[in-house]
Amino acid sequence: MSNSKVRVRFAPSPTGGLHLGGVRTALFNYLFAKQQGGTFVLRVEDTDQTRFVEGAEQYILDCLAWCGITPDEGPHTGGQYAPYRQSERKAIYREYAEKLVAHGHAYYAFDTPEELDAKRKEVPNFQYGHFHRSELRNSISLTTGQVEHLLDAGVPHVIRLKVPEDESVRFNDMIRGDVVFETNQVDDKVLLKADGMPTYHLAVVVDDYLMKITHAFRGEEWLPSAPVHILLWKYLGWAADMPQWAHLPLILKPDGHGKLSKRDGAKFGFPVYAMDWKDQVTGETTPGFREMGFLPEAFINFLGMLGWNPGTDQEIFSLTELVEKFSIERINKSGAKFDFEKAKWYNAEWIKKLSAESLKLKVKAVLEDKGVAIADDELLLKVIETVKDRCTLLTDFYQQSVYFFETPKEYDLNAVKPKWTDTKTDFFGTLITRYAELPNWEATQLEIDFKYLCEETGFKIGDVMLPFRIMLVGGKFGPHVFDIVALLGKEETIIRIEKALVAFTA
Ligand code: GLU
Repeated sequence: MSNSKVRVRFAPSPTGGLHLGGVRTALFNYLFAKQQGGTFVLRVEDTDQTRFVEGAEQYILDCLAWCGITPDEGPHTGGQYAPYRQSERKAIYREYAEKLVAHGHAYYAFDTPEELDAKRKEVPNFQYGHFHRSELRNSISLTTGQVEHLLDAGVPHVIRLKVPEDESVRFNDMIRGDVVFETNQVDDKVLLKADGMPTYHLAVVVDDYLMKITHAFRGEEWLPSAPVHILLWKYLGWAADMPQWAHLPLILKPDGHGKLSKRDGAKFGFPVYAMDWKDQVTGETTPGFREMGFLPEAFINFLGMLGWNPGTDQEIFSLTELVEKFSIERINKSGAKFDFEKAKWYNAEWIKKLSAESLKLKVKAVLEDKGVAIADDELLLKVIETVKDRCTLLTDFYQQSVYFFETPKEYDLNAVKPKWTDTKTDFFGTLITRYAELPNWEATQLEIDFKYLCEETGFKIGDVMLPFRIMLVGGKFGPHVFDIVALLGKEETIIRIEKALVAFTA
């Protein structure tokens, strides 16, 4: 356990897949906690039963595990402040809501949904607040006797925050500096619902207090909720313990117009979720970065750079380096445009940077997923080393390396047949004989012999090199031809030339 008092929380609601903005929030919380030697808490905010989605909590945990940002405390890890799932803390919240009522900062409201609807129709842009609360059925407009009667009769009611009139709520945001809200713009938020469940607003404040949270990094979309939370911290008598706020800049669509939404993924053709998310009800799968072939190292790296900059030209950061370099002062106030091409660039850089050994299991999974059996791990390592600089996504390893494990099933015949001649057939026939006699099978020697045969036969290297490549890999791609030949070995190379000659001359 850490000695530092710094405690941060990532507090997702299990309502579906995890948007990359959510992972970035988790990441920034994590970076700050680790830098300060503090504790990173995962709290599952599942009080809104209507939005609860089966499997979403496990999915969130899996995403965090994939990214390597494991919580120190949380529903699965446990901890001193358990339970970490708000639905399991239901009994805790009422006491605080009642305390607010007792001190005149909250009140009971008995309005039925129909009454509220009628009011909304009557008043344009209706807000349940000081302008209208006296016109509704609540413990401010009703007499004490009436209220007691309704409570005794068990009439369903909620508890609402009594937002004061004509006040300014100020706080210092670590990213935005001084932020001011006018209370006249804030409505009397429901704190406790008729079923006894707290709303997000009450639960977030009570839990941040009870879990001794010191710093709260969350998305800018929560900024409008901040005045409600700050009033609650004050009215509950906890102002001195309030966490320091940091509202992270929005992640914007690639064109910079508006927040990147879940639907933008399908629109622009890139993932917005960390991992594939399968909706249990519709059966629909929303694609994720992981399945598309992103490395967690790259995913974390580009998320870290979305809205934060190191103040230098360095772009490639491991999680450990991000922990070291992270600084709140370098978080931008303005939104960060999401650039998928840049995300892919990070991935390609990370594929280059990681060793073949550390890519091995992931590449093996990509190949095996496509039905390619890998019997020889040593060969796989050499193949990865040979092709990794040509791969942007992990899934590219399939096309870039399948031919090392399987003889090509098809050839790009259009690229060879129109220019094929009998002398080329003879050339490859002789090449087979030469190669068959070679005592050592090594790329440089293989290339020397090939070029020597070109000179002897009067072929331009280009005229026979492309067909040779196509014989080995099936198409016009792949690394240096003689690196491929070296890895394939003598027997397989000869088999491939012979087999291709049949196809080329048919
Ligand atoms: N439960 C909120 C969410 O889903 C948490 C917001 C906060 O961090 O206060 O993002």
